[in-house]
Amino acid sequence: MPWADLCARGGLTTGTEVQLAQLCGPTPDPALITRAGLPAATTLAKFVDKAQGLKLDDTYSGIAFHIVIGSMNRSDVTTTRLFKGVENTRKSAAVCFEDAVFFSRAAGSHPAGTHILVHQSLAPCERCRGGYKVWAQNNLGTIVLSADKAYDGSSGNPIFIFSPSGTVYYIK
Ligand SMILES: [Zn+2]
Repeated sequence: MPWADLCARGGLTTGTEVQLAQLCGPTPDPALITRAGLPAATTLAKFVDKAQGLKLDDTYSGIAFHIVIGSMNRSDVTTTRLFKGVENTRKSAAVCFEDAVFFSRAAGSHPAGTHILVHQSLAPCERCRGGYKVWAQNNLGTIVLSADKAYDGSSGNPIFIFSPSGTVYYIK
């Protein structure tokens, strides 16, 4: 499904602001995790660490992305690369760099329950957050996204967690 369709279905999305510790600190809030259908707190903490540590290529224009499938292998996260590189071409000013990445390369269909980890140099806009939301719902998996620069109302270095049930958490 083209990225624009995922975004359109998801609608503009800001996410519910929570503290990282509520999801994966030493005393997580089980209601937030269970309601959203997220992995256990210890697993989620490892996904967040892994997403933050995914290396990015240098960018002079456009957005650098590093997108992997993440899975637990005993107590480690193993990754399978979906896309790593800089996207700096857009079909028009009306679409985002994400459209080029996802339409052509990343947003295929994955087995149910696939978790996806994303690091990008610029936070996704509210439109693209809607796209990630629907992508997670379609996968019946969680997407953990770590970004560097602030964009579209987010803080710098935000984390977004898109759950299989459609809940979106935003962590400053
Ligand atoms: Zn966007």
